[in-house]
Amino acid sequence: KRRFPNEPEYLQAVEEVITTIEDAYNEHPEFDRYNLIERLCIPDRIFSFRVSWVDDKGKVQNNMGYRIQHNNAIGPYKGGIRFHSSVNQSILKFLAFEQTFKNSLTTLAMGGGKGGSDFSPRGKSDMEVMRFCQAFIEELWRHIGPDTDVPAGDIGVGGREVGYMYGMYKKMSREFTGTFTGKGLEFGGSLIRPEATGYGNVYFLLNMLATRGIDIKDKVVAISGSGNVATYTAKKLLELGAKVVTMSDSDGCIYVPEGLTKEQLDYIFKLKNEYRGRIREFAEEYGCEYVEGGRPWVYKCDIAMPSATQNELDGDDARTLLANGCIAVSEGANMPSTPEAIKEFLKARILYAPGKAANAGGVSVSGLEMAQNSQKLSWSSEEVDEKLKGIMANIHGQCEKYGKEPDGYVNYVKGANVAGFMKVARAMMAQGIL
Ligand code: NDP
Repeated sequence: KRRFPNEPEYLQAVEEVITTIEDAYNEHPEFDRYNLIERLCIPDRIFSFRVSWVDDKGKVQNNMGYRIQHNNAIGPYKGGIRFHSSVNQSILKFLAFEQTFKNSLTTLAMGGGKGGSDFSPRGKSDMEVMRFCQAFIEELWRHIGPDTDVPAGDIGVGGREVGYMYGMYKKMSREFTGTFTGKGLEFGGSLIRPEATGYGNVYFLLNMLATRGIDIKDKVVAISGSGNVATYTAKKLLELGAKVVTMSDSDGCIYVPEGLTKEQLDYIFKLKNEYRGRIREFAEEYGCEYVEGGRPWVYKCDIAMPSATQNELDGDDARTLLANGCIAVSEGANMPSTPEAIKEFLKARILYAPGKAANAGGVSVSGLEMAQNSQKLSWSSEEVDEKLKGIMANIHGQCEKYGKEPDGYVNYVKGANVAGFMKVARAMMAQGIL
């Protein structure tokens, strides 16, 4: 707190991990001698730089660019790039910190990193987005590489942005390697990567529900966001017979009490990926309820799947969800629930999966994309999907192993943090003081 007083999101993420791993940490006095916690609380290095680019009117615009290389004890730095006006060093540090433990949970060889810019693609033309991506990579390219640091997408960075960044990276480095994941299928991308975070979250949810013998069919689900994670979460849920009653964006929320149809969801995919429109336009098209500035947590649901951004679900929201009979929360976004909301969920003993575990499917398939790129091979959708299911089941198993409390309740927060931490800690110990 003394070192990073102006980084509230970072301190929030660190505190959540440290308070839950205390017991496991204290069982290993050698960890303390090696000062592992303090080392893990300071990223290996941070690059921050100016990104200058020319808009469509011919005017020069400036943005900040960052890459946080948090920890590479178990593999090359790995984590997405976020383009959003709210991006700052604190947010990217919290994401990189979380990513280190999440990547450890996947069992694949990936360290933790994150990057981004306060540039917002919203309202920008295709050419402006391209010029920005090129300018961003012109600076970043020298710090990344297939065995050094492998970026991917996140908020505001989808297939289009990854394509432009990868193209510029290829040009600058004069090599065609798997330095980005989330690439187009024509140039090294993996099948199921776009779907992976949303599908993975649903697979994790199914594992949790199974522990209580609950069937997903006909369950009412509230989802926030309408981006990559939210839409593929909804797609898998519809396939399984659940009812998705809400979706949102930063302007507002739609409510469809009878549940979205496949046709309506297809429209949302188009709205997001082709028209680059707003969720309000869905309400205009289908005549459903839309609340400007509204959020999904006020509506009655069995399951909540926050899939937009950090701290989007607070203590009051959690109490409303619980009062409405919510039995499970599975996080697609990173750190969407505030510490107060998490306390409410754990107190109520509902099934609660933190993003670190539940949304690890995205980076897992990124890891599989890296493996395919190294082998210069492409696996089928079925193969990747099966591997994804296996990885999510394995993460669920690790959470149970490290998070089961004396009364049998599985504290997935503790389970994920301890499991993720132990592997990184052992690797750091083995590699000496660096
Ligand atoms: P997208 O950019 O595709 O979608 C983000 C969605 O969240 C949009 O609907 C956006 O609305 C909404 N949103 C963003 N910021 C805010 C905000 N401040 N308030 C309210 N709504 C907001 O991003 P993704 O779907 O990729 O990412 C969503 C979350 O999932 C993030 O937390 C990300 O870190 C996490 N995640 C993503 C992974 C991936 O593979 N993509 C992997 C693991 C985690 P609007 O259009 O109005 O901005």
